[in-house]
Amino acid sequence: MRIGNLQGRAVLITDAGAVDIATASSNTLPSSPDELLREWPSLLNASLDLSQATPFNESDLLAPSPAPRQVFAIGLNFQKHAEESGMGIPSIPATFTKFPSSLTGPFAPVPISSETVDWEVELVVVIGKTASKVAEVTAWDYVAGLMVGQDYSDRHVQFAAGSQFSLGKSYYGFGPTGPWITTLDEIENPDNLRLGCSLNGVVVQDDYTSDMIFPVARLIAELSQVTPLLPGDLIFTGTPSGCGIFQQPPRFLRDGDILESFVEGLGTIRNNAVKEA
Ligand code: ZN
Repeated sequence: MRIGNLQGRAVLITDAGAVDIATASSNTLPSSPDELLREWPSLLNASLDLSQATPFNESDLLAPSPAPRQVFAIGLNFQKHAEESGMGIPSIPATFTKFPSSLTGPFAPVPISSETVDWEVELVVVIGKTASKVAEVTAWDYVAGLMVGQDYSDRHVQFAAGSQFSLGKSYYGFGPTGPWITTLDEIENPDNLRLGCSLNGVVVQDDYTSDMIFPVARLIAELSQVTPLLPGDLIFTGTPSGCGIFQQPPRFLRDGDILESFVEGLGTIRNNAVKEA
């Protein structure tokens, strides 16, 4: 299944268009994407009437999990990215948070806070069931699905005063996700997905999630030892090599830049950089 957020209502995305989930379930399932994520097992067991699919504009899609209680993000989690950063290979996941208010839709414009805003395409995990102290072998059982994300990063703020990753990555709009949540039954091998992004049509990142130092199951296991992961929570799982800061000379986002980001099988999101109002 592909579950999206169409103007605030949870929808099933089909080839014929969007099916409103509350309507298709005779209102046994909630219309709110947040509430639906908290009732994910009910969705999996529901029988939905798919006859009312309607075409939609992609620009009306909003963040599939719009208000998670926790948003985790992992730094330096791809081998080649850790090498290009010169910061060494971490021995445990380098974890920070993106504040939930930084989340935005898959096709939303992103205000650029300064002249040092960079891109980071990432695989984003959506939690579907409370995960507390889970083992790596069962970790995928707690996942509702996967989506594409961009971990926009203001490098100046990120590395100011020692480091302030959470702040530098949490400006308004710095976390577009989507275009929808794809459930795991549609994904052949979630540990080996091609992902990348292009800037104004030029490919800048292109790799496979198999380059991750700590794969998804390990991240869930490690994080859930510290704090329960809750339905709707997100994990930005780290970016591959090719960020702007490591280009020669460094290239940061400018007003009018178009950033397109994809993960194999999960779709593509597209965000225009706009000057901050
Ligand atoms: Zn990142």
